[in-house]
Amino acid sequence: MKTANQDIKPISRKINEQGNIEIGGCDLVDLANEYGTPLYVFDEATIRSITNSYKDAFKEYQNMRMMFASKAFMTKAICKIMEQEGFGLDLCSGGEIYTAHSAGFDMSKTMFNGNNKTYEELSMAIEYGIGTISVDNFFELALLNSIAESNNKNIRILLRITPGIECHTHEYIQTGHLDSKFGFDLTQIDEAIELIKEEYKNLELIGLHAHIGSQIFEKQVYFDEVSVLFKEMRRIKDTHGIELTEVNLGGGLGIKYTQNDKPISVYEIAQTIIDAIKLNTKKYELKEPFVFIEPGRSIVGTAGVTIYTAGSSKQVPDGRRYQAVDGGMSDNARPSLYQAEYTVEVANKPNETETEKITIAGKHCESGDILAKDITLPIIEEGDVICFYNTGAYGYSMSSNYNRVLKAAAVLVNNGKSDIIINRQTYEQLCESDVIPDRLN
Ligand SMILES: *Cc1c(COP(=O)(O)O)cnc(C)c1O
Repeated sequence: MKTANQDIKPISRKINEQGNIEIGGCDLVDLANEYGTPLYVFDEATIRSITNSYKDAFKEYQNMRMMFASKAFMTKAICKIMEQEGFGLDLCSGGEIYTAHSAGFDMSKTMFNGNNKTYEELSMAIEYGIGTISVDNFFELALLNSIAESNNKNIRILLRITPGIECHTHEYIQTGHLDSKFGFDLTQIDEAIELIKEEYKNLELIGLHAHIGSQIFEKQVYFDEVSVLFKEMRRIKDTHGIELTEVNLGGGLGIKYTQNDKPISVYEIAQTIIDAIKLNTKKYELKEPFVFIEPGRSIVGTAGVTIYTAGSSKQVPDGRRYQAVDGGMSDNARPSLYQAEYTVEVANKPNETETEKITIAGKHCESGDILAKDITLPIIEEGDVICFYNTGAYGYSMSSNYNRVLKAAAVLVNNGKSDIIINRQTYEQLCESDVIPDRLN
């Protein structure tokens, strides 16, 4: 069955009677007028469609929890939606922990990940009652144990391991290969377990965690990942007498940015994982573990679009035509960071047949600030509303104030209603943290 991550556009996207694009029953031109641009627009129906697909696809394996990898898009409103959908949260910084806690999220359903968690972050995680901590390295084992000891707490931990699986994605978002900054190498696990048993009395090892990468299109890597993890669990049982009960498989399911991307459905990946678990449980004579998966991009990517207003343009003599918009690398870092490609439409004239080749440029003082290169669009005029699809994941969450541009607003749309979920930053907020030392006055 096809799932929303296999579409380029949000499921509610239509062309309305005015000939404009609408999402969630809201005309994008009206949204641009009401809230200003750049604006992130999130389709609630698409988010809930994909969370429901995950739940449905895994219903055969009830002994599990889906965790939304919040780094893809973290706000209080998304925490509420995930809570309603029965998802937990994967958190990877003090800021994400703070946001979840402020949204009233049940912290027992959260997990803390990351390769350099600080003393403050780990203390905060413990204070707020984090569910589990995925420990990444030897340094963190010692640090976490000392914090747990001084708080008189026992902490349930997973060990993040590097399973040595290569997936074919951009090297910046590959994480499971051996030369990775994340996790314990398989050859270091025994030493880590000895330390936990002998010295780190406040840590309780309950499972293993791996995350092999992002924007993954193959199911075989998930099968291989499960096989590696279960083989390790068997080995750990034999070597250390510890029966691990939890396994976290990470996230990574791909989405369709352009027609060239061929993501697999949530059902396919779920079936692969379930089959791999059943097979390996039998093969290694283990009990069926409690399983976590942590999708991020596939939950919010397709649901989100960014709309901009067209401004200046430039025709290079005998060369490219550039059309500038009122945002750029500050609201979407992915094109300049990974040469990411997007599907683009003009929201106020999506069906116009007269087209041209155009390069959409951001407004930042950086030649690399190009949002889309040499794409074909209807002829753009100043004031047109330009829609970039699939910006819901790693758009707002990687945004910056570069050039002191204000961070954009975000709205959640559904059934003709739009609600602000992130206010546009103000100039006062922009300068809020700035301090002029007395001696400069
Ligand atoms: C980034 C990340 C995820 C989510 O990855 P997606 O590709 O967005 O699904 C899950 N788990 C961990 C540990 C991550 O670092």
